[in-house]
Amino acid sequence: MPVPAPFYAQGLRFSCTRCSECCRLDPGFVFLRRKDAEALVSALKMDYSEFIEGYCRWVPNVDGVEQLSLQEKANYDCIFWKNGCSVYEARPLQCRTFPFWLSMLESSQSWTAASETMGCPGMGKGELHPMEEIEAILARQHAEPVITREGPEISR
Ligand code: SF4
Repeated sequence: MPVPAPFYAQGLRFSCTRCSECCRLDPGFVFLRRKDAEALVSALKMDYSEFIEGYCRWVPNVDGVEQLSLQEKANYDCIFWKNGCSVYEARPLQCRTFPFWLSMLESSQSWTAASETMGCPGMGKGELHPMEEIEAILARQHAEPVITREGPEISR
């Protein structure tokens, strides 16, 4: 059976307006990969344990594994948001590849729903990103897993 083409076979339009809507005021996680942590540690000129202690949190998931995420402020702004991203050049892959996340690319409905719930003014507008570029982004996200550690067993 031929695999049906994804809904974004003709590409998707997106141009970031740097409005910071995706960085602020909504609870969420910015999961970190090894390259992200290395880039941020270098940009912040600190060692890894200082970075983890000062800017990160471990987020438990269902199978007793914890994933590394950036912290957020009491108002749910990202820990690095200060009138814009204060680590823009070293920002994590999750931020760089927004809104081309697997969860948003499952269907045209999930894409439309995401653009509405996230209130991103750049989704559906501006630059056309071809399918090949989108699939290269998904392949990279898949190839570079989020940093994890064994956490306490979570009773279901
Ligand atoms: S690291 Fe920068 S781009 Fe990413 S959520 Fe935080 S402020 Fe936004």
